[in-house]
This record gives sequence, structure tokens and C-alpha cells, in this order.
Amino acid sequence: MKVSRWYNNADIRLEEAPTPIPGPKEMLVKVFACGICGSDIVEWYRLPRAPLIQGHEIGAMVVETGSSVKKFKAGDRVFIAPKVACLECEYCRNGHHPVCSNIKDRLPGGYAEFILVPEALVEKGTYRLPDKMTYEQSTFIEPLACVIRAQRLGGIARNQSVLIMGCGMSGLLHVKLARAKGCTIAVTDVNPRRLALAKKSGASIIIDATEAVPDRLYAENGRKADAVILCTSALSAIDQAWKCVDKGGVVVFFAVPAPGKQVTIPINDFWTKEIRVLTSYYCGPDDITSAIEMLGSGSIIIEDLITHRLPLEETAKGFKLVLDGQDSIKVIINPNPEEK
Ligand SMILES: [Zn+2]
Ligand SMILES: [Zn+2]
Repeated sequence: MKVSRWYNNADIRLEEAPTPIPGPKEMLVKVFACGICGSDIVEWYRLPRAPLIQGHEIGAMVVETGSSVKKFKAGDRVFIAPKVACLECEYCRNGHHPVCSNIKDRLPGGYAEFILVPEALVEKGTYRLPDKMTYEQSTFIEPLACVIRAQRLGGIARNQSVLIMGCGMSGLLHVKLARAKGCTIAVTDVNPRRLALAKKSGASIIIDATEAVPDRLYAENGRKADAVILCTSALSAIDQAWKCVDKGGVVVFFAVPAPGKQVTIPINDFWTKEIRVLTSYYCGPDDITSAIEMLGSGSIIIEDLITHRLPLEETAKGFKLVLDGQDSIKVIINPNPEEK
């Protein structure tokens, strides 16, 4: 089978690899769509495991199951989580699924014609797609699940005022989710095209990130924000975030600066104002179920975020588009043409 192997952002190679044969408890799926995630291009995060086949936002079809797999059969359309929590360890029992102590198997990457799904993921990480859900919609399940978790941890709810900093793919999904909840949404970014898309997605206060963001927010919102969600790793945005969060509010780090970058928290000021600072990484099983439900029911529409669809051979081009970020929002790789 053909695979697209990532060595670094400037070196992505189309290679030939043996098509795996599933063992008794494994299965083989054929990949029809795989979204390029903002985290795929973060070299400090990915290089320690390179060279590797990336791609964890997939839409696929089961083509072969091992002899003891009973839950799925050839022809099932599925999403598979990149890794699954055990649900039993102390971290899982306390809701911290992303840091489960027993995560062993990872789903091999989706920039490949086929993926061999390991036993743990057949058991706990594979979700059948609702009939009407497209493979493209399936590629949004994982990113939306991460967004759902971050907003859940942040306690983001109806009628709150939310500031979303950074309007790439994840920022825009945050806008759409906050909109679905009935929040008032302000956004910042430096790219006018992304800001326009944020407005279309439900943001009512649009701020160029190079402006005096706290002043603009106050002028248009009449107050600071109940929640600030950082969807950019820019240090300048963090400083703005501290000044934009209201008393009793929360700052959620959905994206973080690179390792070694120091962030100073005005903790003394936050202490008397009851301001919380949170991080959110990855998602849990309930978030995936919610994401499938929201995408399947149409309460979150994502088609307007897809800017590029490319064959496997053009994965390198896809990465360039995401790295550049000027003209792309969501880039989807199609390792196999869809049978109609
Ligand atoms: Zn992702
Ligand atoms: Zn666990």
C-alpha cells in the first residue's frame, strides 16, 4: 500500500509499505479521508517519534476483520480514535482520560491507504458513523471532541461572553460550538480571511490581533470576557488574554507556546478576582460521542471550513498549505477515492 511518511515538515515522502494483515483481534480499514491537524505540523511535538505516518482525523471503512472481532464487519463506516483510555485507572476514574496510565496502542497514521487497527482500539476506540455522516464530517470528530472537552472544563455555557484568540481550524470550531451554546463571541486573529470566517461562524465582535485587543473588547462588549480560549501559541496573545478575562472568569489554554517558552501569570491579581487558568489536551470518550452527535445532527456544520482536498500523493503540499496558513483552513487528504 501507499503511505505518506513524515520525516519533518520539509520532508514528507510517498513510500510503499506492506499492506498489513489483521491478527484475530485486529481489523484493517481503508482510509477515505484524513484531516491535517494543526498539531501535525508542530515539529517539537512530532519529531521525537519521526519518521512516522501521521494523521489522526479519519473517516474509514472496515475491509477485513480478525477471526474474533464480532463488533464490526467489512463495509462498516467508522471513525477510530487515535488512542483510547482504559476507563479504569485512577486518572480515568477522575475524568482525566487524556493522561490515562494504560494507553499503550496508538492508531497508525491515516495518511495511508489502509490502517491496521490494534485490539484496544477495535474494542474501545472505534465508532460506527451515523448513516448520513460523510467521511469528511468524520475527520472533524476528533478535533471537535477536543474543543468540546476544553469548553466543558472551562464551564462555558449559555449567555456567557467568550473571547477566542486565534481563528485557525480549532479556533473556528470553538466559535461554532460556543455559538451552538448561545454565547456572545469575540475573536482575534491577524488574518482577515479567518476573521471573516469567524464572523460567518457566529462571532459578533471581530478584532485584529495587532490592535489593542483589551480596549476593543471592552468597547464593543461593554465588559471583559467570562472565558478566554487561546487557540494560538503566540506569546503576545497570552498577554492580551490576561487583560481580557473578567472577574470569576477562566483562561483556557487550548494551544500552548513551544517548550522552553516562559509564561508569567499575574496570579496575585487573579487571586482576588477568582480567575482560573486551565489547560486542555485531547479528549475523552464522552466528548467523542458528543462530537459525533453534534456533527451527525447538523448542530455543528463544518463544510465551510474545508478549503482543500488532496490525494495521498500531495500530502506534502497539504502540509505546506497548513504551515503557510494564508489560504487554508481545513486540508483533507483522500488516500482512496470514494466509491460512489
Ligand atoms: Zn488533531
Ligand atoms: Zn486509564
